[in-house]
Amino acid sequence: MTVPTHRLVVASANPDKVAEIAAILGGVPGIELVPRPSSVPDVAETGDTLVDNARLKARALVEATGLAAVADDTGLEVEALGGAPGVYSARFAGKYATYADNVAKLLDELEGAGAEATERRSAQFRCVALVAYPDGSDVWEDGTVTGTITSAPAGDSGFGYDPVFAPDGCDGRTFAQMSPAEKHEMSHRGRAFRALAARLTTGTGSPSSG
Ligand code: IMP
Repeated sequence: MTVPTHRLVVASANPDKVAEIAAILGGVPGIELVPRPSSVPDVAETGDTLVDNARLKARALVEATGLAAVADDTGLEVEALGGAPGVYSARFAGKYATYADNVAKLLDELEGAGAEATERRSAQFRCVALVAYPDGSDVWEDGTVTGTITSAPAGDSGFGYDPVFAPDGCDGRTFAQMSPAEKHEMSHRGRAFRALAARLTTGTGSPSSG
């Protein structure tokens, strides 16, 4: 039996994310990823939720290419900060913030909140992976990973908040101290995209998304 192929344009303009999505979905039978045309401008992430932002990004690529498009939106939710930075994770330290700026602000805010103790630094990454289709419909899945914000950055792998996020059950090692394969095995993005791929290729997964 021939497996139908889902050709999906990757909507992300962030090369770190594109590499992770390609590593997670690469080799999944029935899924073919198409690079984002460089002529498409960046999409403003003006939504109030991760799903809204993933949809905005994917929909812009559907409109530009006429093909189905896949996007993700990710937030880091820190308990002692009431769930911040959440949907604002990319711009936590300002519109043009670098990864290092965001990490520095996160550590400052936790210090300001008096959250020195490990148990007050619990956090989770949440990722929404969404495919939008030319007929206006879309499907999405989410993935989470719980962990702790470390007191100082450690490790050189990964990107974003990886140097200060130590997932539960890994002896305090941060995502930035792991190989890409080890990170993807348990990460929010790995979980969200594997669930989405299963849903597309085998019809399994939770009932759709709104
Ligand atoms: P976005 O809005 O989905 O592009 O991502 C929000 C921000 O979260 C990014 O700019 C990164 O700083 C951070 N981020 C997203 N995914 C990861 C990850 O897997 N590890 C660490 N930080 C991440």
